[in-house]
Amino acid sequence: MIITTKPGPLFCAMSKPRAISSVAGLAAHGLVPSVQLKALAKVEENFSTRLTPEVLKQIKSADFTDPLFRQYVPSANELNVLADELADPTGDGAHSKVKGIIHRYQDRLLLTPTHTCQVYCRFCFRRETVGKSAAMLSTAELSTAFAYIAAQPQIHEVILSGGDPLVLSDRRLKEIMQQLAAIAHVQVIRIHTRVPLVEPTRITPALLKILSVRPAVYVAVHVNHAAELSQTVCKSLKRLTRAGIPLLSQTVLLKGVNDDAEILATLFRALVANRVKPYYLHHLDRAKGTSHFRVSIKRGQEIMRSLRGKLSGIAQPTYVIDIPGGFGKVPIGPDYVSETPGGAYEIADPSGRRHHYRDKT
Ligand code: SF4
Repeated sequence: MIITTKPGPLFCAMSKPRAISSVAGLAAHGLVPSVQLKALAKVEENFSTRLTPEVLKQIKSADFTDPLFRQYVPSANELNVLADELADPTGDGAHSKVKGIIHRYQDRLLLTPTHTCQVYCRFCFRRETVGKSAAMLSTAELSTAFAYIAAQPQIHEVILSGGDPLVLSDRRLKEIMQQLAAIAHVQVIRIHTRVPLVEPTRITPALLKILSVRPAVYVAVHVNHAAELSQTVCKSLKRLTRAGIPLLSQTVLLKGVNDDAEILATLFRALVANRVKPYYLHHLDRAKGTSHFRVSIKRGQEIMRSLRGKLSGIAQPTYVIDIPGGFGKVPIGPDYVSETPGGAYEIADPSGRRHHYRDKT
């Protein structure tokens, strides 16, 4: 669906730019037509909406061909819920040991101190929970979560996720980082966030100080299109890398946003140039009302095959799927090697030609 209105100036020169957190707010700024308000009110009953001033600046046209608009502006397509779409597509609930802890793998777990984000992505796999009130862990709940981690000596890595952990105040984040640092077997803290891209001013010297704790801190940024890497955003990434924080990226393969090898190649090259290692390309989870973003695995593999020839190894993410039901995340190809009768192999090169290979040991 194309909306013909182009957004006018979203903010008057004198006013402080503000986030928009409702469909009515989007309509007031010319980003959704008033004829859509009734349908979008129904979307709003189920799923949160929020766009930051940085995202609003990055939207170049008010239609679903714009990669930023498509990711953040609600659509009536979200009312189309398919039978196999799930409230908890990655099966987090099955692995929730105490409130705020998702412990699926042996040596690492997720700590989710908040379910609030700076933006609400229309395809989010946690869209049933993010943005709901009372979703922040209380001090007592956080203490229980730390006690759980402290009692599991095999936990090497704690992944702070949510919601977005960088929406927390400096005071609360400092407390979490220090509590985790005090657990001797926690060697790595990984923070999953969209904040450096959607609220770059949050990356302050005070925040960088909070992140300089004894465990190695990694930041994994969620980014889906090179149009998200404005100059302001690149500066925020630079502040993180200059502080010695390694950066990784996560990208979701999304129809109409980045389901194209050239678009992804541009994104991954730009990330590497900004010292961000492309880490995962996620196959879209089957969250409710997201079928308009879905790309087939076959198409995802074709794109990955094309990227193999185009991009240097450091710019290649791993294409992964979370198996519905909570059975974990696995790479889904494409495959380059197949065994032939007699113990030999056929190996495909980046352009698809197959080569015989005998594995002599
Ligand atoms: S920022 Fe992350 S957790 Fe929040 S809505 Fe977007 S994808 Fe979901």
